[in-house]
Amino acid sequence: MQTHFTPEQLQDPELREANAILRRCVHCGLCTATCPTYLTLGDERDSPRGRIYMIKDMLESGRPATPEIQTHVDRCLSCLSCMTTCPSGVDYMHLVDLARSRIETTRPRGWRDRLARALIARTVPNPARMRLALIAAIAGRPFRALFKRLGLAPIAAMLDLAPRGAFSLATYRAPRKVAAQGEQRGRVILLAGCAQQVLRPDINDATIRMLTRLGAEVVMAPGAGCCGSLVHHMGRTDEARAQAARTIGAWMRVIEAEPVDAIIMNASGCGTTVKDYGHMLAGEAGLQDAAERVAGLAKDVTEYLVRRDPGPPRQWSSIRVAYHSACSMQHGQRVVDEPRRLLERAGFSVVDIPEGHICCGSAGTYNILQPELSAKLLDRKAGHIAEVGPDVVATGNIGCITQLQRALDVPVVHTIELLDWAYGGPVPRGMERLGSRVSEVREAKIATLKVG
Ligand code: SF4
Ligand code: SF4
Repeated sequence: MQTHFTPEQLQDPELREANAILRRCVHCGLCTATCPTYLTLGDERDSPRGRIYMIKDMLESGRPATPEIQTHVDRCLSCLSCMTTCPSGVDYMHLVDLARSRIETTRPRGWRDRLARALIARTVPNPARMRLALIAAIAGRPFRALFKRLGLAPIAAMLDLAPRGAFSLATYRAPRKVAAQGEQRGRVILLAGCAQQVLRPDINDATIRMLTRLGAEVVMAPGAGCCGSLVHHMGRTDEARAQAARTIGAWMRVIEAEPVDAIIMNASGCGTTVKDYGHMLAGEAGLQDAAERVAGLAKDVTEYLVRRDPGPPRQWSSIRVAYHSACSMQHGQRVVDEPRRLLERAGFSVVDIPEGHICCGSAGTYNILQPELSAKLLDRKAGHIAEVGPDVVATGNIGCITQLQRALDVPVVHTIELLDWAYGGPVPRGMERLGSRVSEVREAKIATLKVG
């Protein structure tokens, strides 16, 4: 694609980077075939190629963002499916991140949008506030329709997303350090996460059990908070950098005291962001080296576990697992085979979901900020999952778990919870009925073996 930045504009490192990205695009349009918003809306401006053209125009002209570009970039899920499809290697992720940041600083939003975004940015990354917000959401759920009538659809969506079943009011107490079981063969930091530890603290517990079972000492760094992913995708770049800097500082204090093999993520949205810290904090005095080091150590928990031998699983399983690969896992981190391999090795029968490359509509804060489009994508995904008739759905991202569970009757759990269960941990929450079926199968197999 031809670009027309002036030499003065190209002095700006951000525009220089945008120019290099834009020039790779050959406007072939292949990416449109795998873009969820284009598939849903059929408007070129809601396709990657259309957005790329609008971003180019905004950046070259140097003018503030128009309402049109704000609308169509807001509708982008940042699912990165287009990057997996693109044959020219267009780095859409960094281009749209830059565009979101420009839109945020050059185009004021209406008060409703500002209110919703401020609420999300102040609440979700902070576990204590998130817990209070969930309690308030349960109490406020009857007023959903009123919020919608007032034009506050994102607040109504937040009320909808609050858990319907029981959730723990207790603060998640992350252990500082958990020793390896048996001989120690590794040392890792685990990111405790923010929203996840409130919505489903079982995921961290299962992760720690799996890691220590396989010989890793697990350390939770005091002071490490949100990775910055959530606000980063809202274009709040300074807040994202500040959150990332705090977390990097906390991790570096642990690493400098004693090196670690890896920094483990069990929410793939966080993994994509942390692996990109070198880029996010490029040029930040005194931080860039640490950011690159941390990014180099970051691994999804399945990437770490797949190289270790857990031995035979303790359960025989007749359970059919539909594995839902979160966009941040398959497109953001390109972690595709590891979760499936681990589930199969653990004895589960793993089935693929048709159209597995298309987003479920969760996408960070998307199901709050774009509730209608998100609901359409959720329906589409739920239909495809129903086609394969699973007993359970497994995925590696809390956002997808929360989103999918709204539309499915079968339990939706984290991959690590299933693995932990197979190797001796408790039955994952929501799977109690299936858990007793496994015991029956096991008893039956034992009986058959005895008879044989
Ligand atoms: S597939 Fe790649 S090169 Fe083709 S239009 Fe999309 S972004 Fe541009
Ligand atoms: S990130 Fe996803 S929604 Fe956005 S343009 Fe690419 S494929 Fe479409």
